[in-house]
Amino acid sequence: MTSIPGFINFHDEVKASLNSVSPSFCLAKWYQVTIHLQNGLTHSCHHPPTHKISLEGLQENPSQLHNTEYKKEQRLLMLQGTRPKECDYCWKIEDSHPDNISDRILKSSEDWALPHLQDAISKPVDFNFNPTYLEVSFGHTCNFKCIYCSPHISSSILGEYQKYGHYKQMPNFSLETLRKTGLYPLPEDNNPYVEAFWNWWPSLVQDLKYFRITGGEPLLNKNTFKFLEFIDENPMPNLTFSVNSNLGIPDSQFESFLNLVSKIVASNKVKHFEFYTSIDTFGAQAEYIRDGLNYEKFILNVRKFLTIMPSNCKIILMCTYNALSVPNFRNFLEDVCILKNDFREEGTRYPRLMLDMPYLRHPSFLSLAILTPDFKSVIESDLKFLKSKSPESSVSEWLFIEHEISKMERIVNWFTSLKEDSSRRDLRKEFYHYICELDKRRGRDFQSVFPELKSFFQLCKDLVDNDEQSP
Ligand code: SF4
Repeated sequence: MTSIPGFINFHDEVKASLNSVSPSFCLAKWYQVTIHLQNGLTHSCHHPPTHKISLEGLQENPSQLHNTEYKKEQRLLMLQGTRPKECDYCWKIEDSHPDNISDRILKSSEDWALPHLQDAISKPVDFNFNPTYLEVSFGHTCNFKCIYCSPHISSSILGEYQKYGHYKQMPNFSLETLRKTGLYPLPEDNNPYVEAFWNWWPSLVQDLKYFRITGGEPLLNKNTFKFLEFIDENPMPNLTFSVNSNLGIPDSQFESFLNLVSKIVASNKVKHFEFYTSIDTFGAQAEYIRDGLNYEKFILNVRKFLTIMPSNCKIILMCTYNALSVPNFRNFLEDVCILKNDFREEGTRYPRLMLDMPYLRHPSFLSLAILTPDFKSVIESDLKFLKSKSPESSVSEWLFIEHEISKMERIVNWFTSLKEDSSRRDLRKEFYHYICELDKRRGRDFQSVFPELKSFFQLCKDLVDNDEQSP
């Protein structure tokens, strides 16, 4: 990674301040939180697994949505210099080289964290802190059934599981397991966690700097609109607010959202607004991956957003790059180029549409790991395409920034690093079984939607057939 002069020094200084409290101290445990209100789970930050929020005493002290007994124990460990096991992600990075900058340092350096360092250490450890960075999911209602998603996140997938049972390849999401692990979602109209959230809100809102609403599909949840109406009446000029949407909601719903949010942004009632949506490739193949999506309508809704919203508003397209993204990704990138070119920040060359491309890890039988090495050239040629539209290229009208290109580079590097072994062959068999079952349930035909993957699919089938024939 190239270092920016002055930047590393800042992180070194933050590291020294944190380490003067303790070498395991991290402000994210105090000031950042994700809360899944549909099943009463929380974590601070997103690396440790979620844990359950107790309902006992929640109505009297709704800040327990963040300040759980368990979390207070983890904070105490941090203050005492003991590394919480749940933060392994950071310890591995810090242990692999003494100069490494882990998320412990990066997150604690943020403007929602660092100014509160003294406050965090001067208050008693059982103090109920308000988060300054909050991500919340109000419910699991969603009209999409994305192939990599699960029933506690989408009500449509939950409905499918109730009708047909779970997919054998996803035993962790059987309804029985969801009940045992506390993931099974509560009914949206009678949810004590949502009630506690709104009881906490008047106190919580005073310290909030970042607020992000996820789902389910947030634009199908009345609590999203309740928040927007609150902001409209009670401006929060220091708040950065973001929301996710699948952009497949009814037009009337989307228009109500746009009318309200554009009014809020235009009158500076929030500091900044970010809009996230998801799409993984082009056309019918994107619709197969994100069941419920209408590709053309999606593109039209992106245009509608960029046309109606003030010109300083951006939209971030999240592409969860998976094995099925590969064949038609170039066509999608061509559409992105058109959109980027049509919508730039007023008076600048900066496109108002950005790509984020995390690659899919779970379920692994849908990840790039199932593909054979011959697909590498396809992915590489898409990377080349992105680079041809970068500021360094000869084109005068650049479209993709370094961050977007590096995400694609990471995908190529990861795919190149994969070794062919028996675990990948097992994944291909799982993939074949999963797709056959999915096509049966949803009345789809994988091979007609993905003609480019016909021989790959045959290879997966042959692996399954060979297994069945062998004694
Ligand atoms: S130490 Fe790392 S994993 Fe733990 S809360 Fe901080 S950033 Fe997250």
